Amino acid sequence: MTPAGWPSVPRAVDDTRPREVIVVGGGTAAHRCAVELRRDGFDGKVTLASGESQPPYDRTLVSKDMLADHTADAVALSERCEYERWDIDLRLDLRAECVDRDSRVVGLSDGSTERYDRLALCVGGRPVVPPELDAPGVIVLREAEHAARLRKGMVAGRHLVVIGGGFIGGEVATAAIRSGLRVTLVEAAAQMLEPILGDLVGARVAQLHRDNGVTVRTGTPANAVSSKGDGFEVSLADGAVVDADIVVLGVGMAPNIDWLDGSGLCLDKGVVTDEYCQSSADNIFAAGDCARWWHPDYGELCRVEHWDTAGRHGAAAAKAILGNQQSFAPLPFFWSDQHGVRFQWAGHAPSWDDIRIEGDAPDCFVARYFRSGRLAGVFVVGQPRVFARARRELVETASTRR
Ligand SMILES: Cc1cc2nc3c(=O)[nH]c(=O)nc-3n(C[C@H](O)[C@H](O)[C@H](O)COP(=O)(O)OP(=O)(O)OC[C@H]3O[C@@H](n4cnc5c(N)ncnc54)[C@H](O)[C@@H]3O)c2cc1C
Repeated sequence: MTPAGWPSVPRAVDDTRPREVIVVGGGTAAHRCAVELRRDGFDGKVTLASGESQPPYDRTLVSKDMLADHTADAVALSERCEYERWDIDLRLDLRAECVDRDSRVVGLSDGSTERYDRLALCVGGRPVVPPELDAPGVIVLREAEHAARLRKGMVAGRHLVVIGGGFIGGEVATAAIRSGLRVTLVEAAAQMLEPILGDLVGARVAQLHRDNGVTVRTGTPANAVSSKGDGFEVSLADGAVVDADIVVLGVGMAPNIDWLDGSGLCLDKGVVTDEYCQSSADNIFAAGDCARWWHPDYGELCRVEHWDTAGRHGAAAAKAILGNQQSFAPLPFFWSDQHGVRFQWAGHAPSWDDIRIEGDAPDCFVARYFRSGRLAGVFVVGQPRVFARARRELVETASTRR
């Protein structure tokens, strides 16, 4: 399959050794890309330009430890001195605003421009905020400072409404209940996580939340959020109105690719790349949550929002930049922690024709997803050892497909 906008002629292979690499982004993909360039012996200039004010940190903790522990700081992936040791020019609070492919220049938010021989786009995503839910003071969760803001308001006895029953919504509900807040979680779909895991599994996840004191309202989209006194009023599609002291929105993320409009890059729900992390333009690569890449095992374009995959993807982009192209074909893997129970997912199952579930308890079960008779994904709740075995099974299934 050829993605729309993909060049009809093969891209020119520039086999001159790069001297200047710019990595745009400040998450795990950007971090791993920059560090891997050095580990692989690249001795040219490496610039890491991040829109955030602190060095790359563990984003997965933003909805976990950083909410649970009121004193927790962001956990940096490396200390600043290590970037100095690697001779990586770490430039914070600096956003890339445009790319000129012909002159190989990136325009930056401080008005300067930077030349590149190779450019890695690792710009991740931002939370989706539907305009009708965008009242002043509504909190989203993506960056360390969002967590700091939310936890300031997390005072026992207050009522927090989470809009969105995905993984982040579930983790926020978990942290808030543990801090003694009253929590209502509102989900538009018939069940929590239904679009990703189906209604049977979603119902169990919702039950786990109810068992832990969360009021879960599924099948009722929130239509509007408005200010009311010091708090909010959340209007639901079924006509109910819920008062809240805090409102957190967790309704999905959008890749940060708007600034690339006009760059001529093939963009389609992400920066489209081949299996070697290369975009439709010469010398421009993409990795992590912002990239939609050709997965050779699945025979389709994939974009996943998983920590482990994003880091590996960044490392793969570094290798491709240095001419050591290796097909990027990971088994997508994700985890989440909710009410003291670990959720683990592995595989790729955007659709399925059969789900087989073992175990009855909402805090301990295994769901296997099959597509055309083949195991495509597995979701394991509360059984890490079973997960390790199931993951191996999936790796074997993928290798028989090659
Ligand atoms: C709250 C939360 C909890 C999560 N928990 C889990 C989990 O438990 N398990 C799991 O597997 N995954 C989890 N994820 C997903 C995981 O964190 C992401 O898949 C991963 O962080 C993606 O890394 P990335 O580097 O591609 O993008 P990001 O982490 O989004 O980093 C992108 C960076 O690029 C910067 N940037 C954007 N535009 C520009 C620009 N124009 N110029 C310069 N810089 C720019 C951003 O400021 C940001 O620093 C979680 C995500 C969130 C938000």
